[in-house]
Amino acid sequence: MALIVQKYGGTSVGNPERIKNVAKRVAKFHAQGHKMVIVLSAMSGETNRLIALAKEISPAPSPRELDVVISTGEQVTIGLLCMALEEMGVKARSYTGGQVRILTDNAFTKARILDIDGANILRDLDAGSVVVVAGFQGVDDAGNITTLGRGGSDTTGVALAAAIKADECQIYTDVDGVYTTDPRVVPEARKLDTITFEEMLEMASLGSKVLQIRSVEFAGKYKVKLRVLSSFQEEGEGTLITVEEDKNMEQPIISGIAFNRDEAKITVLGVPDKPGIAYQILGPVADANVDVDMIIQNVGHDGTTDFSFTVNRPDYEKAIKILEGVQGHIGARAIEGDRTMAKVSIVGVGMRSHPGVASRMFRTLAEEGINIQMISTSEIKISVAIDEKYLELAVRVLHRAFGLDQA
Ligand code: ADP
Ligand code: ASP
Ligand code: MG
Repeated sequence: MALIVQKYGGTSVGNPERIKNVAKRVAKFHAQGHKMVIVLSAMSGETNRLIALAKEISPAPSPRELDVVISTGEQVTIGLLCMALEEMGVKARSYTGGQVRILTDNAFTKARILDIDGANILRDLDAGSVVVVAGFQGVDDAGNITTLGRGGSDTTGVALAAAIKADECQIYTDVDGVYTTDPRVVPEARKLDTITFEEMLEMASLGSKVLQIRSVEFAGKYKVKLRVLSSFQEEGEGTLITVEEDKNMEQPIISGIAFNRDEAKITVLGVPDKPGIAYQILGPVADANVDVDMIIQNVGHDGTTDFSFTVNRPDYEKAIKILEGVQGHIGARAIEGDRTMAKVSIVGVGMRSHPGVASRMFRTLAEEGINIQMISTSEIKISVAIDEKYLELAVRVLHRAFGLDQA
């Protein structure tokens, strides 16, 4: 008998039939004697629909009211799942984030969980109920509804598992585990039986949306046993996120490839090559809450240099405007940009002990005529920024070059 948190994503609860299927799976675990806490997303497409609806009324809605609107999708699915369970004779109770009391900060649309009161849940579990909790939402200390950022139901699941000390947190989705890369882009991608937290953190932060990055951070910090599985398959062990590398196994050099389409590049041309320039360029950008990712400053010629960096594409126009505002003050000759960039990253703890990974990556891209515009590295990843139109090709050739398509 175990205490299990299961999270089901949007596709897994996308219509009444699928909700009934989730109920069947939950009822099966419940009948085996496990205590079950279920975290749900909104039906697939629903959060996007709600955001679009809000934008029809207001192009830049107040974040507080946006959260009031976009948190409703999850309230629908938790009620429906409880009804489905009750139809099967299983006692079930739904909770919104506020009803549990998932306390967050007040950063609307990207709030962080501060504390979870597990008392109601534990009481219901002891009384023999299945507990069904709305993902993606919480309340701040003034009682305002908040949401946790896109994909945030994963984080609700893991944070709840940590709070009630669950034996395992199972993330059920539309793929049967974490793959070497997004199987929708590379059909030859292979499912991994295990992946380390470190690698999963990099994959998530570099664009693999199979798990929200904060859920992986939580699981690592609170030692939650975390597994990704398919809600459409009866059998299968999915992928276990592990703390330790498996010392008994030959480590692959690269475990996976992540990518992100939504990048843009900005270059500030002809700035004076002197101390303080990077600060003068990036300071105002940071003050406007724009995240900067890769940065390059070229060698100076004749006392001037070019300074390039990438931002998320939705922030591109904002960043350009800010820089045009300070261009005169900095003494820059011009500001240029490209809003159709993408980032491809190879990730693997095996990189630490294998030199030559970067050169193999760069050669592979060169052989396809793909121009690398920026590079950034850490101990276990190498990222390159390229023109978005080569993204799929780059991921496919790298997947092959590093032998990821072979078992
Ligand atoms: P859910 O609605 O269940 O939360 P998501 O759409 O958020 O599901 O995440 C699952 C999707 O993540 C998959 O359908 C897949 O296309 C995508 N994905 C991206 N990278 C990977 C990867 N490395 N392994 C598995 N899935 C991935
Ligand atoms: N429904 C929210 C979203 O679409 C949260 C989630 O599904 O994890 O982002
Ligand atoms: Mg998701």
